Amino acid sequence: MKKNVIIVGGGFAGLELAKKLSSNQHFRVTVVDRNNYHFFPPLLYQVSTGFIEPSNISYPFRKMFQGQQNIRFYMGELVNVDPETNTIETSNGRLSYDYLVLAMGTESNFFGNDNVKKNALPMKTIEEAVNIRNYILLRLEEAARSTASTDKERLSNIVIAGGGPTGVEMAGMLAEMARHISSKDYPEITSSAGHIYLVDSSPSLLGPMSKKAQAVAYKVLSGLGVKIKLNTLVKDYVNDEVILSTGNKISSATLIWASGVIAREVKGLPVEAITRGRRIVVDEINRVKGCNNIFSIGDQCLQTSDKNYPNGHPQLAQVAIQQGLLLGDNLKRQEAGKPVKAFRYHNKGSMAIIAKYKATVDLPAGFFKGFFAWLVWLFIHIIPLVGFRNKMKLFLNWLWSFLTNDPALRLIFKPVKQKN
Ligand SMILES: Cc1cc2nc3c(=O)[nH]c(=O)nc-3n(C[C@H](O)[C@H](O)[C@H](O)COP(=O)(O)OP(=O)(O)OC[C@H]3O[C@@H](n4cnc5c(N)ncnc54)[C@H](O)[C@@H]3O)c2cc1C
Repeated sequence: MKKNVIIVGGGFAGLELAKKLSSNQHFRVTVVDRNNYHFFPPLLYQVSTGFIEPSNISYPFRKMFQGQQNIRFYMGELVNVDPETNTIETSNGRLSYDYLVLAMGTESNFFGNDNVKKNALPMKTIEEAVNIRNYILLRLEEAARSTASTDKERLSNIVIAGGGPTGVEMAGMLAEMARHISSKDYPEITSSAGHIYLVDSSPSLLGPMSKKAQAVAYKVLSGLGVKIKLNTLVKDYVNDEVILSTGNKISSATLIWASGVIAREVKGLPVEAITRGRRIVVDEINRVKGCNNIFSIGDQCLQTSDKNYPNGHPQLAQVAIQQGLLLGDNLKRQEAGKPVKAFRYHNKGSMAIIAKYKATVDLPAGFFKGFFAWLVWLFIHIIPLVGFRNKMKLFLNWLWSFLTNDPALRLIFKPVKQKN
């Protein structure tokens, strides 16, 4: 009898697990996802700045699983888990499992601020990235039409909340675009009309990275004209005014939210299994607290059994990938009656691109920056993309955009209301 494995979420963690179980005679695998495609979040900011196309970083699950006898895709959103009956309810029907794996990642955390939630622009999904692209372009069109200088300023200013890698990469890209593109595309808006602001509550940018990386990010972004506000919180966002904890206000029609995440909600799990940041408490083999046959991997879980990470692992792609791989191995070992292995995270380093030809790389062995770091960043971000065509398309897109300083994706495609 084959075991039914349901994986909810086909991100880094879920996909790695599915691949590990592919062609295995003991398992029938169903990947459930709200989207019909897998995508690559680290490059979302390039979609939202019109630098690359959404399709460069997305790949359909059904195409991915073509020819895989034991893997099926099911499009649907998780509604509820019922551990008593070993079933899950999705937006499109009920499914039963022998093993359930929750790998749904995180969503934006607005820290309870309703105005920010309503008016700021999050960037966690392809739809949100495309929305940012449309929104910024529409505001620039408005700024070009407006005659009052205060309106031009409000419509051209962009505030980014969150000075982690996403915020830094976004600020660098927008500042370069303002320099190379806006003056050519929008002669109606003078270059002094708008600014890019980067706001972070901590004393430095790139919080989780080394002091050297933080200093480089600060220097490069300041040099590009980004106005950096550290030790500062975005407290509220009302009537196109970003209100800061210092009491200052920034007039801006655009607030991009790159500041904090919370795990996706799962209804039906034991109460003791949910902890801070809504993360799911798991043991050393990623089994959910209080459950025998339910597991959680990736950003959504919190595992404190790894002796080097007693407060849990950072929510990074490599953690998700390594947990997916090990769980695949462990499920196979379990079926074969062999002992399972505890998860240990192997930190391969972290990196951030700050501007064209400028990046920082923190490796366990040391730090480097500059042009070589930038090349390494490009390479590392092309390799994990699914599909050779996607890798080639992205490479050519980058080549064209970096050489010309003029990506041509500044198109406003407005979604229409559609029948489901
Ligand atoms: C903008 C951005 C930039 C980032 N940059 C980096 C970086 O440079 N380096 C790095 O290491 N990490 C980076 N990260 C973090 C990295 O993307 C995550 O750590 C990683 O994606 C976690 O993998 P995961 O499989 O746990 O979740 P995800 O990759 O988030 O996958 C979750 C999957 O679950 C699906 N899903 C969600 N809710 C439901 C539901 N209710 N029902 C069904 N399916 C659902 C989603 O569609 C998605 O396919 C970045 C994240 C973002 C948002």
